[in-house]
Parts: sequence; structure tokens; C-alpha cells
Amino acid sequence: MIKEIRTLRKKVHIHPVFWIVFGTGILTGHFWDVTATFFIVMMHELGHAYAALFFGWRLTSMELLPFGGVAKVDESGTRPFQEELIVTLSGPMQHFWLPFVSSALLLTPYWNMTNHEMFLEKNWMILLFNMFPVWPLDGGKLLLIVLSRYFPYRRAYRLALLFSFLFLTLLTIWVVFHRTILLNYFVIALFLLAMLIKEWRQQRYVFMRFLLDRWQKATLDHLEGVTVCVPKDMMLMHVVEKFYKDRHHRIMIQGKKEQHIITEKHVLNAFFNENYYDQAIGKLL
Ligand SMILES: [Zn+2]
Repeated sequence: MIKEIRTLRKKVHIHPVFWIVFGTGILTGHFWDVTATFFIVMMHELGHAYAALFFGWRLTSMELLPFGGVAKVDESGTRPFQEELIVTLSGPMQHFWLPFVSSALLLTPYWNMTNHEMFLEKNWMILLFNMFPVWPLDGGKLLLIVLSRYFPYRRAYRLALLFSFLFLTLLTIWVVFHRTILLNYFVIALFLLAMLIKEWRQQRYVFMRFLLDRWQKATLDHLEGVTVCVPKDMMLMHVVEKFYKDRHHRIMIQGKKEQHIITEKHVLNAFFNENYYDQAIGKLL
């Protein structure tokens, strides 16, 4: 526990924008508003970070932004479904006990009913915002986790990003028609759009890391096994696009009359070691 807390302390980075909002809030007399936001966002991220460390994930950093945070982990597609789900849900779960902290604070002279109501509103708003199905918010991550169960990783990832674009566009249209919280919304929507475009451009790189990570793992036997059938003349780079996130694969190569089964490691070795990515898989037999 103490070791995990020390690791966490070293990883926390506070985004400069956060300090600007924090400083402006204090100068304009919104001390409790900004303190409450800081506390809620911090608790939310600690939820993710603690769950990640509990499962032994490599946590690279934890960045705090004015409207949420991003706990970055160096794990790409080799963790079981349940772990991914728990780590992603651990942030949103924090919002359900935070109201009790605010209620307890009412017993002190520093906290009144106005503060309490403000705290509850911020708590639920930050939760709601984080549940939007837009990458890289928790809702977007959940979307990717669910899609990864039913589609190969490469396609699931693309679908999750496309759905995020679509949701963000529809939400923006809705906000424009209802003329609510316009300025705040547009700042956040632009930030999300920038993150999405960056992620979209990095698709190939993310996919390569996904494959590389699988290749470097000593074993993937802890994951559920699945057989992928491919024709003999399919190129290796298209075969790997059929790989699922939390399974390990046996590749059944189908010729005209015969069938052969090879392991995922065999394919990945040929892909990375021998640069066979543009060769037909039949060459591995
Ligand atoms: Zn979160």
C-alpha cells in the first residue's frame, strides 16, 4: 500500500491549464469551487491508478486537467477483459462515495449547504462528462473494451474512434440548438476533437505497439484461445488484423485440400524478425 502510494505520488503531473483555471478561480473568489473540482478529479484518477497498480500494470503518468484527468498506462492489448473493465470503471466508481465526504464536511464550520450542493453538482457533472462515449474519456474506453470483445482489435479501435467523432458531432449539434453552457462546452469539445484527431493519426502506430507487445510477452496463455481461419495466400499484415485484444490465437491456414495450424508467436516472429509482413502466410509452412 505505502509503496503504491509512493509510486503514485511520483507519477502525478498537473497540466499547466489546470493551474491557470485554479489560479483564476481563487482570484475571482471561487476558492471552494476550484478546490472541490481538484479534489473530485484527483479522487477519480486515483481510482484508476490504484486499480492499475493493483493488477501490476505499468503506470506511466497521471495528468490532471480542469475537467478530468488522464491516467496513462503502458499496456496495449495484452490484459484480460476483466482487468481492463475494472481499471476503467474504478474512476467513475469514486463518484458514488464522494457525496458522503461532503456530507461529513457539513459537520465542520467551514462547509455549508451551498458548498454541499455545489460539490454534488460538480461530482455528478464530472461523472456524466467522463461517461460520454468519446475517446479518451472513460465512456470511450468502455466502448473500445466492449467492441474489442466482438471485433478484432484493429477494427474495434477504428470503430470506437469513428463512434466518438459521431457522438461528439451530434452532441455539438444538440448543444448549439439548446444554447446551453456554450463557451465551456466548446473549449472541452475542441480539446476532445484534438485528442481524437491525434489518436486517429496514430492508429497504425498503436496497432504496431499492440502487436509488438504481444510478440514480446513470454506467454499469452492466460488469455482465452481462439482459432482464426485464413486462406494460404493472405498477406501477413492482413492476418494480424484479425487478432483480438484479449485472446491468444491459433491460425488455421487453408490450402486447396490441406489445412495447417500455426501459433500466433510463429506469425509474429515472421512479421517482426523476418519482415514477412507483405508475404503470403502460406510461406511460413
Ligand atoms: Zn476516468
